[in-house]
Amino acid sequence: MESLRELYRIGIGPSSSHTMGPQAAAQIYLQRHPEARAFDVTLYGSLAATGKGHMTDVAILGVLEPQGPVTLHWEPRTFLPFHPNGMKFAVLQADGTLSDPWTVYSIGGGALSEGEGKPTPVPSGSSSHPAHPVSSPGVVFDGHTRGYAPTAPSGSSSHPAHPVSSPGVVFDGHTRGYAPTATANVSPAPLYDLNTMEDIIAWCQQSGRTFWEYVERCEGPAIWDYLREVWQVMQEAVERGINHEGVLPGPLGLQRKAPVYYVKAKGYKSNLQSDGLVYAYALAVSEENASGGRIVTAPTCGSCGVLPAVLYHLSRNHTFSEERILHALATAGLIGNLVKHNASISGADVGCQGEVGVACAMASGAACQLFGGSVAQIEYAAEMGLEHHLGMTCDPVCGLVQIPCIERNAFAAARALDANFYASLSDGQHRVSFDRIVRVMKQTGHDLPSLYKETSEGGLAKIHR
Ligand code: SF4
Repeated sequence: MESLRELYRIGIGPSSSHTMGPQAAAQIYLQRHPEARAFDVTLYGSLAATGKGHMTDVAILGVLEPQGPVTLHWEPRTFLPFHPNGMKFAVLQADGTLSDPWTVYSIGGGALSEGEGKPTPVPSGSSSHPAHPVSSPGVVFDGHTRGYAPTAPSGSSSHPAHPVSSPGVVFDGHTRGYAPTATANVSPAPLYDLNTMEDIIAWCQQSGRTFWEYVERCEGPAIWDYLREVWQVMQEAVERGINHEGVLPGPLGLQRKAPVYYVKAKGYKSNLQSDGLVYAYALAVSEENASGGRIVTAPTCGSCGVLPAVLYHLSRNHTFSEERILHALATAGLIGNLVKHNASISGADVGCQGEVGVACAMASGAACQLFGGSVAQIEYAAEMGLEHHLGMTCDPVCGLVQIPCIERNAFAAARALDANFYASLSDGQHRVSFDRIVRVMKQTGHDLPSLYKETSEGGLAKIHR
């Protein structure tokens, strides 16, 4: 498994697979072809189906267009064999021919792959562990005037070299846009020697240590500085979100709910207040993500509200120290990493069970650890967090990471606290192991029809078709 730095990516929403990954791919292609004066880019499958709503075009054009014009093609009906989020880049020569084609896949959580058995591409000159792995300092959304139209992608479109343009996206020409940065990080180096929960539990039992200590053993003590930064960004997203009123960008006209939920929840007592605050914190982060705010993938942008909500709530209501929160973040990251390595965290690949379901598993395990759970109880909590999201589809309305995504984060955060409590009442013994549920999730995801995997063609997405 790779470093937790590859799972927890600090960046700009709304989608890790549809914006962070394509942005990194465009950066790599530009680095490989600094002489190119025009580009031809084709988006396939899910990237094409929901790319407009997810701002995929903005992410790619922001990198390539400063170099030269980009002809962009949308092929939502064509699925390349390796993964539903396929992209093909080529240099457009002056005589109209294409050269140096490069096919790459955005496989979830901002990560890239060139396909089965091929190495993960790495932008030359980029640090494998920069302080801000995928942050685009040029991207600034004000939350009020930004927006993007859900124009159904069809056929092909070409865009002029300047300014960066995308239908409905308002740029001010100075600070807006996914600026090409030298910090895109798709480091492939595996750091972990154990890749299943069973093996890691055996290590814990043999050594008398727990999950976060295994993370430290594999990552080294520097991981705590990185997780401290992750925790800082998570807290900032919560605090911005609970104070940020107004309407989210896009044609749905969705009102932000976090500030109201926060104020109302404060008026309740004990466990009702607890549920209400967890809802408010998850809404806050997910609404920040939907409006292009700075968040942490946990494990993806679409599911980025669950873990911060649970940790923020527990840190404030139970006064856990920062050190213990960082340990919980490490354990949550290990849980997410196991799913990423052995199955998938891509909604386009396995549906929302792989995004919000995995986020719930991560938050469940983290909460259980904070409350003193044993290794077995933490594993049980994580298993339940994923098991009870099995089969959950990905069907975002208008291709936006808003409905059902935002509410779904709030429910998953509350469910994570339930999973923790349920596991805490047990002795940790249970029938279905975490490793098994990961395998079942992967198979279930592959058995789902593609219209339920981030194509915005089935389920809830149909209400706006
Ligand atoms: S439905 Fe789930 S997987 Fe799909 S975009 Fe929303 S959060 Fe991501």
